[in-house]
Amino acid sequence: MNRQIEPVMLKPTQCNDQEWALRCELAECYHLIDYMGWSETIFNHISARLPGPAHHYLVNPFGLNYDEVTPANLLKVDLDGAKLEESTYEANPAGFALHSAIHGARDDIHCVIHTHTTEVSAVAQKKRGFSHNDFYGAQLFGRCGYHSFEGITLFADEKSRMLDSLSDKHILVLRNHGVAVGESSIAKTFFLLWTVQRAAEIQCKAESMHGEDVILPDEIRQKCTDLTAMLIRDSGFAQKFFNGMVRKMHANKGTGG
Ligand SMILES: [Zn+2]
Repeated sequence: MNRQIEPVMLKPTQCNDQEWALRCELAECYHLIDYMGWSETIFNHISARLPGPAHHYLVNPFGLNYDEVTPANLLKVDLDGAKLEESTYEANPAGFALHSAIHGARDDIHCVIHTHTTEVSAVAQKKRGFSHNDFYGAQLFGRCGYHSFEGITLFADEKSRMLDSLSDKHILVLRNHGVAVGESSIAKTFFLLWTVQRAAEIQCKAESMHGEDVILPDEIRQKCTDLTAMLIRDSGFAQKFFNGMVRKMHANKGTGG
């Protein structure tokens, strides 16, 4: 990221430049999710893994709305969601369990975003799950794992079943609940979530309309999936997308920059 939402002077002395940059980008991501209308008041998390072999993460303090998250008030937690540094804010280890399970099993995933938007939750409730007949839905062909709902809180015995459902994928549809997406960076994760959210919005609208759908052949769906997976993996596409969305948010909120 080449912009910061708070003056550099707020950087705590024990925080290195790399961690501060991640904190700034993650705070922007919280604001962006809220700006898009995808937040769920004080609930849910976006987690980002700090560089290095240790499983240390940045996550929102429990009790704050997403637009109240700042680079400095993000908590540093371990894989169990317990605080690693002093903070006046509380952690929410029970809420972090979903993130903990994914991060603990997948070294290739450095950011996890979990949402319950109305559209995504509606699709997650349908037996068929995502359809693949619109521009965004076609890009999700074969890319979603589906996990059955076992209750509000993720207990230890459910973790292995959830990871089986995710397998080597990056999108986990939580049936009767919402979605969790994970990628190797914050920008890539946000870009993937955008695709999922847009697919859900279009599917909800299309299924509320009369008339037959034009069904895409699997071959076309696979081409869409392969191309978008390659763009996320190998290009700077997602970072450009994320930075552009952050600029748009600041311009529309009048927060300058
Ligand atoms: Zn949830």
